[in-house]
Amino acid sequence: MTVLTPPVRERALSLPAQSLPAYLYDLRALRRHAASVRSVLPDRVELYYAAKANPEPEILAALAPYVDGYEVSSGGELGHVAKIVPERPLAFGGPGKTPAEITAALDLGVERFHVESLHELRMLADLALLRACAAPVGVLLRFNLPLADGSLEASALSMGGRPTPFGLDPAQADAAVRLLTDGTYPHLQLLGIHAHLASGLDAARQLAAAESIVTWAASLAARHTIDLHEVNVGGGMTVDYAAPAARFDWPAYGAGLARITAAHPGLTLRIEPGRSLTAYCGWYATEVLDVKPSHGEEFAVVRGGTHHLRTPATKGHDQPCVVLPVDEWPHSWPRPVARQRLVTLAGQLCTPKDVLARRVPATGLRAGDRVVFALAGAYAWNISHHDFLMHPRPGFHFLGARR
Ligand SMILES: *Cc1c(COP(=O)(O)O)cnc(C)c1O
Repeated sequence: MTVLTPPVRERALSLPAQSLPAYLYDLRALRRHAASVRSVLPDRVELYYAAKANPEPEILAALAPYVDGYEVSSGGELGHVAKIVPERPLAFGGPGKTPAEITAALDLGVERFHVESLHELRMLADLALLRACAAPVGVLLRFNLPLADGSLEASALSMGGRPTPFGLDPAQADAAVRLLTDGTYPHLQLLGIHAHLASGLDAARQLAAAESIVTWAASLAARHTIDLHEVNVGGGMTVDYAAPAARFDWPAYGAGLARITAAHPGLTLRIEPGRSLTAYCGWYATEVLDVKPSHGEEFAVVRGGTHHLRTPATKGHDQPCVVLPVDEWPHSWPRPVARQRLVTLAGQLCTPKDVLARRVPATGLRAGDRVVFALAGAYAWNISHHDFLMHPRPGFHFLGARR
């Protein structure tokens, strides 16, 4: 069941039709959710927000009291996040960092670099030497680790344990650690290990992944007789688009992380979720423009579409939604209405891929009714192909902002 928060319902109904579609963000709901996540994380577990999930300034700012820092994955995100939440710790990750991006990060005093290759490590060392930074530059080596239990095959967005462009191959671990510990690069400091292996894992699988990452990192450290202070086990906590009221089991995950930190005194764990923090606070509200039969099925065409909310098209799901009936009908001719129980909700694009939800139970859906799509707070507007067909952009409303 999809449930709207009261401010979202109120705004979705009160906006004039020509102000739709609109993204509605409930910042109060976001703060409440972030606080509940934070409250179950034990000591020595830091929470960074992966900005790529949703970098809207209001979202970044609303999260600030609940996160220890932000993970950025490009020079663009770096400059943006540093401006919106200045003075907050940043971790700079992502493959293919350019010299200009690395230099910008050094200039900003970024605390941590998630280094993705030996070449990148050498480039960082070279640029850090040129910049003559006062303090050593913090490095976490990102590895593409295999996981023994097969968790990753179950994940759609797996980026570890198989050939991918992400991170260093585990076979390069000894060479990378040696470069950072044998005096070659005294101006770099190896802080720890990073591994973001997949998205869409439930709490049990996330814990299994975290455990194997930490075990692998500990044996690497033991082999080199060094102390590892930090292990970042990444993001990827699942969001279930088929069950919008369900949540990742944060209490179980927090309890499991506590067991890991207890077994490794002196180690700080870090997680960097994106989707599971912000997906729930965003809604895409629109109106039904037309309803029509087609070869035995029925379609409702809504204002907007996947050029604004690409998530269902990229992930291959039906975006959960709520219908808000609107009784006014301004025209003199009959109002288009769905005769069948199941209606497919499509957008305005001239492509059959522009479908937001298939065969939704929506008996009696009419042109002029409003539809609000839930779970649109992450990888939604910012991953969409806005300019395709040149329709107008949606409005953006941040509800419950603190002044
Ligand atoms: C995308 C990404 C994340 C966040 O993933 P979610 O699935 O949004 O939690 C975290 N770390 C890295 C390195 C990423 O690329």
